[in-house]
Amino acid sequence: MPVGYDEAIGIFWVYVAGDLRLPQRRMLKSPGLLSRTHEEAMPQLAQRIGRAKPSAIMVIAETAKQLKASGRDIISFSIGVPNFLPGDHVYAAAREALSHDSGQYGSNRGSDALLDAFLKHIEALGFTGYGRLNLSVGIGAKQVLYNLAEALLNEGDEICFPAPYWTTYHDIADIVGAKANVLHCGPDQNYKLTPQQLQAALARKPKVFLFNNPSNPTGMVYTREEIAALAEVLAQYPDTWIITDDIYNSMVFDGIGYHNFVFARPELRDRLIFVDSISKTYGMPGWRVGLIAGPENVAKAVTTLNSNHITSVPEVIAAAAIAALSGPQDVPQAKCKEFAQKRDVVLAALAKIPGVVCPRPQGAFYAFPDISVAFGKSHHGTRIENDVEFCAALLGTKGVACVPGSAFGEPRAMRISYTCPTAQLAPGLARIAEFFAELS
Ligand code: PLP
Repeated sequence: MPVGYDEAIGIFWVYVAGDLRLPQRRMLKSPGLLSRTHEEAMPQLAQRIGRAKPSAIMVIAETAKQLKASGRDIISFSIGVPNFLPGDHVYAAAREALSHDSGQYGSNRGSDALLDAFLKHIEALGFTGYGRLNLSVGIGAKQVLYNLAEALLNEGDEICFPAPYWTTYHDIADIVGAKANVLHCGPDQNYKLTPQQLQAALARKPKVFLFNNPSNPTGMVYTREEIAALAEVLAQYPDTWIITDDIYNSMVFDGIGYHNFVFARPELRDRLIFVDSISKTYGMPGWRVGLIAGPENVAKAVTTLNSNHITSVPEVIAAAAIAALSGPQDVPQAKCKEFAQKRDVVLAALAKIPGVVCPRPQGAFYAFPDISVAFGKSHHGTRIENDVEFCAALLGTKGVACVPGSAFGEPRAMRISYTCPTAQLAPGLARIAEFFAELS
């Protein structure tokens, strides 16, 4: 099965007659499909567009959706959506807001009511002593992270983050022209960053250290002790901003708890930005609200950027977010329990596949098994050399969509997002086991 970069189809994944390709992290002279001569006669897009590419996760999810629409029996473990809806009180708040909608622009920082609801929410997590001026909002954590990159990174600055990483980190770094220093944390170290790795990375004085806990794609959660050990190292390097993208903080299993560097070393507050979102916790990814808590100058910078692009979070959306953050928490709590049970089902199924190793996830809703035992083998005559070919063959023959690990900087693995309806989970896992059993 041919896999690789193809100038003619540019930066898109394609799924044509069993062929699935990853967008390449590579500079394009031009992202267009047009011939050189025609292109040269046209106005050129900005160089940063040559560095931008569509989210690999969205593309495979879209491919799976299209196959399903064409009548194929597809089980999707691809996109990281929580797959539940928020409680009734959230819809009631949105309806109520609609009934007296002002129809006006809102605050660039976020309405006072939204900021106050977020303050209470983060206080319950352990972030004390923050005020409205430490906060800002955005259209989802993704846009907030993009804003932070714009606010903190000059072109050529270094940003470091552990791999496996959420794909967007690298993409945003590329777009703003920052240099990404990826810190590889393989399955042999449970996909977790060690203090020694962090020390070596910070010695290069990066402008930003970006950290994600619980992790997408691995589901790993750092213990209190692990966070404290990393915080000790961070405290020694005052030149580096710290972003903790912890949007899965309410989805932590096994009583391990959510921990942040500032809980261990409060002085890190002056340069640490905590990122949160209503997307995963409340089953509201389409409502698009992300939030930060950090130093006042950073919150102000993000607010200024907002004033120049999004302006504000819409009033009705803000009302729903306030209800989610400050209303009953029974839906997220029940879902957290359900995801822990599903995690157990996934791990039990993977443990039965010879050679597949899956460090035990303790949060979010992902598992990230090392599938490299399959590389160099064939499935019904199709040779599988890497994760992309593996996922293409799995989708093509078994109708199960998973995301290749190379999208997250770890080509030995693939991501299973297990929020599908419970009835699909065991059959989907059985198909994966069947696929492995058919390798020769
Ligand atoms: N950060 C991580 C680690 C994520 O997994 C995601 C979404 O998948 C986001 C941020 C973006 O979340 P939002 O929906 O709030 O933009």
